[in-house]
Amino acid sequence: MSPFRSHMDAAMAEARAAAARGEVPVGAVVVAPNGRVVARAGNRTRELADPTAHAEILALRAACAAAGSERLPGHDLYVTLEPCPMCAAAIGFARIARLYYGAADPKSGGVAQGARVYAHPQCHHAPEVYDGIGATEAAALLKAFFEGRR
Ligand SMILES: [Zn+2]
Repeated sequence: MSPFRSHMDAAMAEARAAAARGEVPVGAVVVAPNGRVVARAGNRTRELADPTAHAEILALRAACAAAGSERLPGHDLYVTLEPCPMCAAAIGFARIARLYYGAADPKSGGVAQGARVYAHPQCHHAPEVYDGIGATEAAALLKAFFEGRR
């Protein structure tokens, strides 16, 4: 096993790129067990006219396509914001081993609050969850984005 290295910086870069496209600034990356980033994505719900085009979903789709598998055992997912219930469920379906996220999302989060997807008895696979990584920076980016839209 390779030594731990955070990939939150890459996720933040995707979040910034999403903001530049006029999308809600959330970014995600998927990291293979060998430590290589295999997918990176930012929100594209507006561009794709697709309410499911969250950063996590797009990153999972790309990583699964590259792996030729609907499951990604041993993989890690980094995302700048607490996943919503849809993404939390998809992360479980993909059998992601570890979920690292930045800012908490009291409004739409589904991991530590709201639906608490992984605490639900119907949840078949829960990743290890590490929160608050780069949270200040991720929250500031979101705040600036929404303030700029008023
Ligand atoms: Zn989501």
